[in-house]
Amino acid sequence: MRLVFLGPPGAGKGTQAKLLSKEHGIPHLSTGDVLREAMAKGTPTGLRAKEFVDKGYLVPDEVVDALVRERLQGARDRFLLDGYPRNESQADELDRMLLQLKTELTSVIYIHVADETLVKRVGGRRSCPKCGAVYHLESKPPKRADACDACGNEGLVQRPDDRAEVVRERLTVYHKNTAPLVERYKAKDLLHWIDGDRPIDAVARDVSEAANRKPGGSGGRS
Ligand code: AMP
Repeated sequence: MRLVFLGPPGAGKGTQAKLLSKEHGIPHLSTGDVLREAMAKGTPTGLRAKEFVDKGYLVPDEVVDALVRERLQGARDRFLLDGYPRNESQADELDRMLLQLKTELTSVIYIHVADETLVKRVGGRRSCPKCGAVYHLESKPPKRADACDACGNEGLVQRPDDRAEVVRERLTVYHKNTAPLVERYKAKDLLHWIDGDRPIDAVARDVSEAANRKPGGSGGRS
């Protein structure tokens, strides 16, 4: 299984990729998570990325391309890419990486959610600065207010780039740069269209089913 998760910020790519990764024991590679970790550690990559991430802009291609290239070497046959590629140039670079590794994508899971819903959703998102677990004040609240279920850390935080004005910028960037990839992968018969405006487990069932099936031939928008 070699999948790409595509969709706007807040569509649930990370949540769904984590669930599928657990279900099949497949490495989950989230460029956003890798960048946030580098930022928290203050590495040169992290310091460079921060000025873009905090404003809702895309980090320069050469930075993320290098992160993905390094990690794909070890995960040749099985991976879930979440948050990459995010523009045509990254998609071209991914094609080159896969060619060199003599492999190809099995499918692309596109999670669709309308913009109005995304702005509300992202506003309620909280995460654990210690282990990275993600919650939502309404749809996935922690058992104890403000404490992480996974590691017990007290003090969940809002990502700086989840603030309303940054989310609007991220959506603009998404529509301009990333949304065209939907057509690219549709034309290659790789795209599964999933309605992400439903409870997490309902979306997860469709994602799991789609991940095990070749796209196309099933009618609907897949
Ligand atoms: P995410 O957690 O996927 O929403 O990513 C958070 C932020 O990290 C994005 O808003 C970008 O600033 C940066 N980022 C993540 N993945 C990429 C990528 N493939 N290309 C450029 N920037 C990225």
